[in-house]
Amino acid sequence: MKIKKISCLILISLAIGLSQPILFKNSQRLLAQNQTDCSQVTLAFDDGLESVYSLAAPALKAHGFPATAYVYTQAQNEEYDGYLDWTEVVSLQNNFGLEIGSHGYSHGNLTEISLAAAKNELERVKNDLISHNIKVESFASPFGAYNYQVLKYAAGLYASHRTAWSGLNNQPAEAYYLKAVAADDLSLDQIKGLVNQAKQTNGWLILYFHGLTEDPTVPKGYFYQFNDFQQILDYLKNQNSKVVTVSAGLSAVCPASTYGPNRVVNGDFEDNLNFNSAELTWYSPLDDQESIEKAPWGHSAEVVGDVSFVAGRNGNAVSFTDLSWSPDYIALPAYQVINPKQGAVVFWYQPNYDHTENVEARFFEADADCCEFEFNHDPAGFLYFKIEALKNNAIIVPVSNYSWHKGEWVKLEVRWHESDYMAVYVNDQQVGLLGRDNTGKIYGRLPDFTDHYLGSVLAIGSAGSRGKINGAMDDFMIFKSADYQLPSDAHQADFWTKNPKTEVKITNTSSGRTAQIIGGADQKMIATFGIPVQPGNTYELSAAFKVTGYSAGDASVWVAEFDQNYHYLGGQWLGGFTYDFIGRRYFRYTPNPNVNLAEIYFLTHENAKMTMNIDDVELKKIQQP
Ligand SMILES: [Zn+2]
Repeated sequence: MKIKKISCLILISLAIGLSQPILFKNSQRLLAQNQTDCSQVTLAFDDGLESVYSLAAPALKAHGFPATAYVYTQAQNEEYDGYLDWTEVVSLQNNFGLEIGSHGYSHGNLTEISLAAAKNELERVKNDLISHNIKVESFASPFGAYNYQVLKYAAGLYASHRTAWSGLNNQPAEAYYLKAVAADDLSLDQIKGLVNQAKQTNGWLILYFHGLTEDPTVPKGYFYQFNDFQQILDYLKNQNSKVVTVSAGLSAVCPASTYGPNRVVNGDFEDNLNFNSAELTWYSPLDDQESIEKAPWGHSAEVVGDVSFVAGRNGNAVSFTDLSWSPDYIALPAYQVINPKQGAVVFWYQPNYDHTENVEARFFEADADCCEFEFNHDPAGFLYFKIEALKNNAIIVPVSNYSWHKGEWVKLEVRWHESDYMAVYVNDQQVGLLGRDNTGKIYGRLPDFTDHYLGSVLAIGSAGSRGKINGAMDDFMIFKSADYQLPSDAHQADFWTKNPKTEVKITNTSSGRTAQIIGGADQKMIATFGIPVQPGNTYELSAAFKVTGYSAGDASVWVAEFDQNYHYLGGQWLGGFTYDFIGRRYFRYTPNPNVNLAEIYFLTHENAKMTMNIDDVELKKIQQP
């Protein structure tokens, strides 16, 4: 490991023009290469199959290559047929120079069991390996399945985590989000191509196999043809590839990869942005809201004025505290269409004042030239819901006096069904009604809905000169049915609740708005909500970043994936920063099967010390490579 570090330092010296290199042990080989080549290749074997010992290890030894074998020790403890036994595992480390990594205890999916069970899996395999005098530093999640909590716990036990996200690693690599390419279905030529790509970009290729076979009738897949495997080894030898274990690869000191975006060293952020892309209309202020009636991109809201973020019910809420008449609001582009026949509007509100205080609050309004659609809390502390129609023909649903309590989250809801009723609920209790109740009893005269304009909601918050609120709003939803189903588990994604103190600053720049996250003790994030995506497509996410003052931790770009019912399915890590960076970065995103909605997160992890600005975010569908 030491030698490799030194080798790379030599290369850096050469690159910056120092003269005669001092020749270290294996520098002859390195000097024959392109002088900036710091690419690496890791060969990994998952699951601990017998053929790692019988076929792979001797061939690797003959080529002088190390490798990393990820085992799950239930197979050893229970002496599974076709798997390594304990003597062989120990021998792989002691006699063949392989690194032994953890692959969970039972190879169970760690996201499908309780967190306690997942912790047990992660600890048990580590203890098993340690008790056999095996040095275990590296972990690969079974099926590549992990979530935030599993990963956080694994990080306390292991120095790295290898995912199953396919691709080359940039260097410096992200220790807990290592990408890897499954060799299973790849041809020899495809693998050679990946080796070449790593070399050209200073990337790190982690290529993982499962079993090897000498039986030519076995189809490509879980067992790779041993003959082809040997040819891969020969190719790596011929190319002078640097072949390392995962733990050695992580400790390599390399110049930054050129794979992906180039670093931009000009310190002027905005000057380096690509103005041809969509300007940042920062689309996620109510960032943990969701709505069932979705249109592509239609749920993006635009922040206008002095709107900030405070702790919400889960994750963020938007806060309106400026009670001047200046227009501070969240605008819904293309307006949210409200079905005049029937529908519902639901949101949560946290007043920043008590019912004894004389404060007016209007929560939303429609087109100011036309009609009003508002929830109003008047100076006398009286709450009512009003839809104002054309020609000032308003429907006002009076609500029994509700006593606000400063800091308390209150669920507000309006449902309407043409010719039947219009009802207002506070905390799920009906507090106002026009029309008939479900026993047929009439409460007030319900005007003809067709006289009323229920077309859209323009803005939430202190809109224009008309509305103003003092408090926070969260989880705003519009439904096109009065009989809607609330997506009750929409907030179960672990990370929503990880940081109740998210603080993201939105500032104006010459190209629009920039979101700024200053890393701290807690995870901080800004996220979109459900973006419709389709499995089988590949998307490119691009954004301009300015990461400064980096000294610890990491920032990530993450996609959370949901099915059409907004059930959380898992996540994909797209990339991140553990260093200062200025420039635009591009990330490929391919939805997993059954994914219909994606949420994109820009986040700093706990204890990250850096400031990350994000601008000009764009997601677009691209052709499959
Ligand atoms: Zn596996």
